[in-house]
Amino acid sequence: MKIIPKKSLGQNFLVDDNVVKKICNSGCINEEDYILEIGPGTGKLTEFLILKKPQKLYLIEKDSGLIGLLNKKFKNKVEVINEDILKFELKVLTNNNLVVFGNLPYNISSQILTKFIHYNKEEFQYKKLVFMFQKEVADRILADYNTKNYGRLSIFSSWKLNIEKIMDIDPSSFFPKPKVLSTLLVFEPKKQFVKFKNSRNLEYITNIFFNQKRKMIKKPLNILFKDPNKVVKELNLNINLRPQNLTKDTFYKICLIYEKLIQQ
Ligand code: SAH
Repeated sequence: MKIIPKKSLGQNFLVDDNVVKKICNSGCINEEDYILEIGPGTGKLTEFLILKKPQKLYLIEKDSGLIGLLNKKFKNKVEVINEDILKFELKVLTNNNLVVFGNLPYNISSQILTKFIHYNKEEFQYKKLVFMFQKEVADRILADYNTKNYGRLSIFSSWKLNIEKIMDIDPSSFFPKPKVLSTLLVFEPKKQFVKFKNSRNLEYITNIFFNQKRKMIKKPLNILFKDPNKVVKELNLNINLRPQNLTKDTFYKICLIYEKLIQQ
C-alpha cells in the first residue's frame, strides 16, 4: 500500500534509523515500562520501541487511513487507538507511569506538550516525555528570561518539568523533508514545583503579559489587578521592564497573588 503523507496532519515520517534509535534510547525504557506513542504514522519508531519489550505499548493515531497498516504490522503487540491526542482522555489508559514518545505533528506540538503539563499527578502520571519539535518551538521551550525566545511556553514548560535537549535533527532524516531543523527534547516531572489552584491561571496570566511583549509590564498588571501597586511593592517589581525581563519565578509569584485575590 502506498502512503501519501498528509500535510494537514503534520506527517513527516522518520526515515533515518540512527535518529530513530537515538529517540528510542533517550527514553531509557526497560521491560517494566508502559509506553505511549503519539502519532506513530507508519510505525517506524514503533518498530524500535517494540524491541525494548515494554509491558504495554499504546499507539494514538488520528489518521484512520493508517490504522489498518499499524494493526497488521504489529498484530497483538500493541494497542492501536484511533483518536485525536488533543481530545483523548489519557487517564483512561492506565494507572501506570508512562514513558511517552512522539515525533509530534508540528502544527499542534506545543498544544500536546501543554496537555501533559495540565495533568495532576493524581489524575495521570508519566515519568518521561520524549518529544520531537520544530527547532523554533524547542528554542522557545528552552529559553530563559532576557532572551528573545522567552515567553509563555518557556514559563509554562519549566514550571513542572526538567527539560533536556538531546540534539537537533536535519530535515533529511524525514520524508517529506520539513523546511526547518527539528529538535529532540526529553522532559521529566519535577519533584518540587509551585502549586497553583488551577494551572490555567498561569496560562492566562502569561497570555496577558506576552500578548504585548514589547510593552512595559505596567499595562498587563493594570489589566490583571485592581490594585497593581500592591503587587509591584510585594514583588519589588520595576514597572518599566518588559515581560521578557521577568524571571520564571516572578511569573509564578504573580500567579500565586492572582489566585489569592480572585478567590476573595
Ligand atoms: N512517528 C511517525 C510519524 C510522525 S508524523 C514517524 O516518526 O515516522 C506525525 C504523526 O502524527 C502522523 O502520523 C499524523 O497522522 C499523526 N497525528 C497528527 N495529528 C494528530 C492528532 N491530533 N492526534 C494523534 N495523531 C496525530
